[in-house]
Amino acid sequence: MSQTLAIDERQDFITTKGRQKAHLKCDADSIAGCVSQRACVYCGARVVLNPITDAIHLVHGPIGCSAYTWDIRGSLTSGEDLFRNSFSTDLREQDVIFGGEKKLTAAIDQLAVKYHPKLIFVYSTCIVGVIGDDLEAVAKAASKKYGIEVVPVQSSGFIGNKSAGYKAACDALFRLIEPENRAKVGKTKSINYLGDFNLAGEAWIIKEYFRQMGVKVNVVLTGDSSYDQLKKVTQASLNIMQCAGSMNYFAGRMQETYGIPYMQVSFLGLEDTADSLRRVAAAVGDAETIRRTEELIARELEVTAPIIEGYKKKLAGKKAAVYVGGGFKAISLIKQFRELGIEVVMIGTQTGRKEEYDTINDLASEGTVILDDANPAELEKFMAVQQADLLVGGVKERPLAYKLGKAFIDHNHDRKHPLSGYVGAVNFAKEVYTTVCSPVWKYVRPGGVTHE
Ligand code: SF4
Repeated sequence: MSQTLAIDERQDFITTKGRQKAHLKCDADSIAGCVSQRACVYCGARVVLNPITDAIHLVHGPIGCSAYTWDIRGSLTSGEDLFRNSFSTDLREQDVIFGGEKKLTAAIDQLAVKYHPKLIFVYSTCIVGVIGDDLEAVAKAASKKYGIEVVPVQSSGFIGNKSAGYKAACDALFRLIEPENRAKVGKTKSINYLGDFNLAGEAWIIKEYFRQMGVKVNVVLTGDSSYDQLKKVTQASLNIMQCAGSMNYFAGRMQETYGIPYMQVSFLGLEDTADSLRRVAAAVGDAETIRRTEELIARELEVTAPIIEGYKKKLAGKKAAVYVGGGFKAISLIKQFRELGIEVVMIGTQTGRKEEYDTINDLASEGTVILDDANPAELEKFMAVQQADLLVGGVKERPLAYKLGKAFIDHNHDRKHPLSGYVGAVNFAKEVYTTVCSPVWKYVRPGGVTHE
């Protein structure tokens, strides 16, 4: 297979398992001239912080940046719903010339008086990075004036890619817990569950498993969390982390600062769900916890395994392409597709880390194309060359699949049904079957994509 690419510098970011280098370049800025599928820095920060239900999310920037709202994300709440709003300072040309700090102060005043929040996040955007508004100073003055926490999120463009936004969000979270909670470290034998944003209620599904196992969940970061819960985050004795791309930095800082260890988990697919539940039980539980965990897994498998087996028979021989945000999801999806008898022939991520790509390379079948920070032309090319029947991705990848006449599954924040845990594994299998085996593909003539 030819790997001729439109942009030569992209060669290092793509490899074919078994035929080329085992290590590919990743965790780097996008190549100039490529249309990266990555979201911007601000968007990366907003993904992490937006599920905090009782916070005000104020976007200091042009109105377009605040197009990101709850309505295009699926985080659910069991309490407040202030987070469903998206507030903006609506910066205009005049503000860009004369500075936007007065407008920001006025916006915070208005929001503090109207909503009486305990917490306001102020997001910096690209233009704020250019004009240099002092978010720290404005936030500090507002915090003092209203006796609440106003936290700047340093997520202006040009400081990096979506990963820099994750880090900006984690820095903002860390400011909430420092320094007063040093005395309350690891007080309870419980876990924090990091990197679950309660899309379609997924965090609730996993919390219910832990309840049945007898494992106490201290705080979920950040799905369905609140200001008061976040203040207790240091009280857990272990952090478990699902979305490592967004939370690895936070987990590392928690370990460094408070001595709270962390472990990677994944609740995607039957194999990873059972493995993660067992490892958590072994880490924080006793013999009784382990017994209850085994009972839970056996109970769930009795119901779900035959369903998955039924779909597997219908999906034999199909091939999947995967392009998702982070490495943990990509790794789990290879295993989850194997549970369905489907081979992954192309796999990539926006922000995967080296160790995650090493695992992907180990798991992938010979001939699988592995690529980091892909652009639309590459995704189209490799989906076609590898003859994938299906693409798993986010909203930006959907039209790429449909143009090629291929099935698509949304595995991003926009979806409205859970894909985590046992119920999620069944939902996923059902969705794969209904989309891949839909009769519609017989009537589609793929668009004019050429490839070598
Ligand atoms: S202007 Fe910058 S911060 Fe706003 S949405 Fe676009 S890239 Fe993101």
